[in-house]
Amino acid sequence: MPPLGPALARIKRDRIKAVSLEGGGEPSVRPDLLATAAKLRAAGVEHIMLSTNGVALADMELCREAAAAIDQFTVNFPSHLPEVYAAATRSVKYPQAVRGLRNLLDLGVRERLRVFHIISSFNFRALPGFAAWAAENLRGAGLVNLTFVRNAGRARGEDGIVPSYSEAAPFIKLALARLKLAGFKAVVQNFPLCMLKGFEGFSFEFQRWSRGDAVFEEGVASAADCAACAACALAPACCGARTDYGEIRGFAELKASRIRPSSIKPERF
Ligand code: SF4
Repeated sequence: MPPLGPALARIKRDRIKAVSLEGGGEPSVRPDLLATAAKLRAAGVEHIMLSTNGVALADMELCREAAAAIDQFTVNFPSHLPEVYAAATRSVKYPQAVRGLRNLLDLGVRERLRVFHIISSFNFRALPGFAAWAAENLRGAGLVNLTFVRNAGRARGEDGIVPSYSEAAPFIKLALARLKLAGFKAVVQNFPLCMLKGFEGFSFEFQRWSRGDAVFEEGVASAADCAACAACALAPACCGARTDYGEIRGFAELKASRIRPSSIKPERF
């Protein structure tokens, strides 16, 4: 997280009402996490979101205090399988991450909990299994977001972590179907519509477009230029492929569509 002083000054000056605690390392291990939340409230912030790996929330007392101080939790949880979790995170704290998720649910956070599951080469084949595990262990969570890995930031240069769209797609679709059947709100993010045939309504970016929002969230790089996308009727509502994906896998999988985005039904839950 950036230094608090200048951030608080800007929050007051610009009357910022929503703040996300993230970046600069895992925010939940900071000893001043709860004090920071209190200072943000005092500065007028109405909605605080914490992006976390959930490990520190295995401590029930901290979790209880955080649940009272913070409005929304985004927990990055890349696998229900301990060995895959260890490979994806280089951490042996799988039991604590699961405990943190359970503590949040036991404390009634539920609708305020979003589970982010980054799809990578480590875990894409296990996506349907993750959905089945979620049905048993995450019932009540507000959202499950399957986000296709970006070869950016710390992951930049680790080309092996990026599966092809084509190999990941069948597993993503099966996972989305299972999540829906289990009663979850579920979306898939950063995954092209032409790879989601029959499941386009689960696309995070398509849902933003259908609500009248910009397809990309603020700060997210827009789609790469490619011939298929230039000729595609779905382009206004699609995330396309990222440049960093094209550098590794190319764009040959993408297929221009004649389908109008307005003919696709967004998943409603
Ligand atoms: S061709 Fe491009 S714009 Fe069209 S659906 Fe595929 S990725 Fe999206």
